[in-house]
Amino acid sequence: MIERIKNTMRNLEKNGFEVRYFENEFSAVDSLLKDISAYESVGFGGSMTVSDLSIYDKLAKQGSTVYWHQKKPDDRAAELGRAATATAYLTGTNAITEDGRLVNIDGTGNRTSSMLFGHDRVYIIAGVNKIARNLDEAMIRIKNVACPKNAERLKLDTPCRHLGKCMNCDSPQRMCNATLILERQPRSVKIIIYLINENLGY
Ligand code: SF4
Repeated sequence: MIERIKNTMRNLEKNGFEVRYFENEFSAVDSLLKDISAYESVGFGGSMTVSDLSIYDKLAKQGSTVYWHQKKPDDRAAELGRAATATAYLTGTNAITEDGRLVNIDGTGNRTSSMLFGHDRVYIIAGVNKIARNLDEAMIRIKNVACPKNAERLKLDTPCRHLGKCMNCDSPQRMCNATLILERQPRSVKIIIYLINENLGY
């Protein structure tokens, strides 16, 4: 494991987060399936990383009750509400700083609020490509790499989708309505970070 990843993990742990390291997505999925029982409910936040792991289908197959608005576009609002009350919550993160902070931008607010409260455990699934040197680099990466790609994926009419960079827009479809920087493990929820030694999501 390279020193940069080790250092980030050390700092995340120092900030109270539980961190588990995996060499690849397959071992991470195996571990998640062992950690989340068939008797638990699981909510999902919007995330390409989580989507790419196909963990929604695997948890549903083992009998867990799963809630993800990405899978229920016709029942989106109700599914967001159900996900918000699930025992466990799975999502990605926009960035992890080397000093051990989680940085996320949210348009709806479901993902960021679930990282703070309402669940027994929150699993943050992230590839090592999400590690940023510091908060400035994290924000630049989110606004100019992640947001343009998410806007394209979601077909949002935002400047970043068309120009490939942030224009701090006033678009009604703006994604950047809330910014959450988790500096330490919050009191009411257990955050478990699955750090995978691959490039996942964006
Ligand atoms: S503020 Fe607007 S243009 Fe900038 S990243 Fe967010 S949605 Fe895109």
